[in-house]
Amino acid sequence: MAKNNEYNKVSVLVVGAGPAGLACAIQLKSEKPEIDVCVIDKSAEPGNHNLSGAVLEAEALHRLLDSAAAGWRDSDRCQDVLGKKVEKDNVMFFLGKKLSFNIFFIINLAKRLGLNFGQMIHKGDYIVSISKLTRWLGQIAKELGVEVLPGFAGADIILDGSNGKAAGVKLVDQGLDREGGKLPNFVEGEVINSRFVVLAEGCDGLLTEQFIEKAGLQRQSPQLYSVGVKEIIKVSSEQYEKFGDDRVVHAMGYPIWTPFVGPGMFGGGICYPVGDDHIAVGMIVGADWKYCDFNPQDALTNFKNHRFIKNFIDGGEVVEAGAKMIPEGGYNAVPRDAGSGTIGKGNVLILGDSAGFVNMLKIKGLHNAIDSGMKAGQAIAETFDRPETAAARYTEMIEQSNVMEEMRSAKNFRQTVAKFGPLQGMPISILGGLLPKFNVEKDFEAMTIAGYRPEPNQQFDKDTFTAMAATEHREEQPSHLTILDPEVCRTKCTPLFNSPCITFCPAGVYETIHDEVEPANASNCLHCKTCQRKCPFDNIRWTVPEGGGGPRYKRM
Ligand code: SF4
Ligand code: SF4
Repeated sequence: MAKNNEYNKVSVLVVGAGPAGLACAIQLKSEKPEIDVCVIDKSAEPGNHNLSGAVLEAEALHRLLDSAAAGWRDSDRCQDVLGKKVEKDNVMFFLGKKLSFNIFFIINLAKRLGLNFGQMIHKGDYIVSISKLTRWLGQIAKELGVEVLPGFAGADIILDGSNGKAAGVKLVDQGLDREGGKLPNFVEGEVINSRFVVLAEGCDGLLTEQFIEKAGLQRQSPQLYSVGVKEIIKVSSEQYEKFGDDRVVHAMGYPIWTPFVGPGMFGGGICYPVGDDHIAVGMIVGADWKYCDFNPQDALTNFKNHRFIKNFIDGGEVVEAGAKMIPEGGYNAVPRDAGSGTIGKGNVLILGDSAGFVNMLKIKGLHNAIDSGMKAGQAIAETFDRPETAAARYTEMIEQSNVMEEMRSAKNFRQTVAKFGPLQGMPISILGGLLPKFNVEKDFEAMTIAGYRPEPNQQFDKDTFTAMAATEHREEQPSHLTILDPEVCRTKCTPLFNSPCITFCPAGVYETIHDEVEPANASNCLHCKTCQRKCPFDNIRWTVPEGGGGPRYKRM
């Protein structure tokens, strides 16, 4: 950053060093090397906070690398990150704890018939670790001259007047004690002023949601989320060989929904190879679950114990674990300027998961994140002398791109499932574009006093799970988690729902201490933000802690 006497100043400030933000920086720097581009990220190292499915459609990434990193196909990094492709595409239906049916032929048939469901085919896609992919993109960005600054957490987006134009981003104060008092090493978070601000923070980004509110952006339908929990398991060579290095499993049904009686939640399990005798297992559950005693980790335990999965991982050792949310609301939940329809406003652009570019019919968003990043880079290059037109140009490009084609094709899908439940909703959603936009409630409003069945046999070991995420924060800092009204916990939530945050937080952050629910273990937080979206009384607010804290994912 070019420094002047009062503040730092940069031409383009990207918030978030994930695939979308880095794709934006790489694209822009390849087109206009003379523009100074800075990417800030709250994690200690790019990739540390990235966790994904992660089956990646290659096209957008190839375009990005072809334009920015000559000879990338021959590099060791390429072999390490993109060395595995899907050959065996298992789409399974699990009925109870033992039965499984490969229903891939239905997806294939849907594809032949031109139905939207036919998009859920992964053959030929890369099987990637998003943490590794992000580290690689970070390296490419640096080599092009992008300033990548990990450990820089944005606390506030500063607007320039009331027209929605941003002046820059204020960073988090460092060196406060638990009560907010200044320690000797206190450093006030400086303001980075910027001509363009790119919001690429991932799902439910703090600055993105601030900007949506401050600049008056709107969603046609509330954003719906899902919660993903994932483990990487070291298995025996025989098990790994049996699973194969080229297979992905997506499973629906048990343990989160059944055709007749029992739970009815949207989502499913995933299983894929990581390499070197490691297998990733995960469970993704729509956050509109209604069971007040439900924890996605319980569903993960049940999934791992299903006969089909157990076969490959029994006796294995969990070596890494993590959690994150995914934006599922699709086309109707993309935040837009109420007047012009731009995705962002003026000189502020919203990308990737921050915009909600996940195609739920493919259960994939990584390719759209990269593609939207590239479009943002191109739009900024074109409008460099007219920054107030950047969001409009970016939106124009997105509207004409594959990103929005996919978003339109999956329009209404998640809302239909939310409205009717997975059993009825998924068949109805075949009608695709013919369906109306159903009004849906926010995820937290779905909570009821119903209990989740089937119960797992044992309590999930959250301590070990959290240790495997290697999460770290400086203990003596103000809590980044706030319970707005403890009285609501005492008089409403605990008597009615038995304080669900204690159960569903994957890191065991919330505890009852002297009859009060508190975020007692905030330093364990995995930054998944589930609590902010699932507390049934909308009573929790998540803000960023000091930069450099949080999980340290290596192969997620
Ligand atoms: Fe309930 Fe939310 Fe209070 Fe937790 S924070 S006890 S979920 S109201
Ligand atoms: Fe996720 Fe909230 Fe728990 Fe942190 S405290 S791990 S954001 S649910």
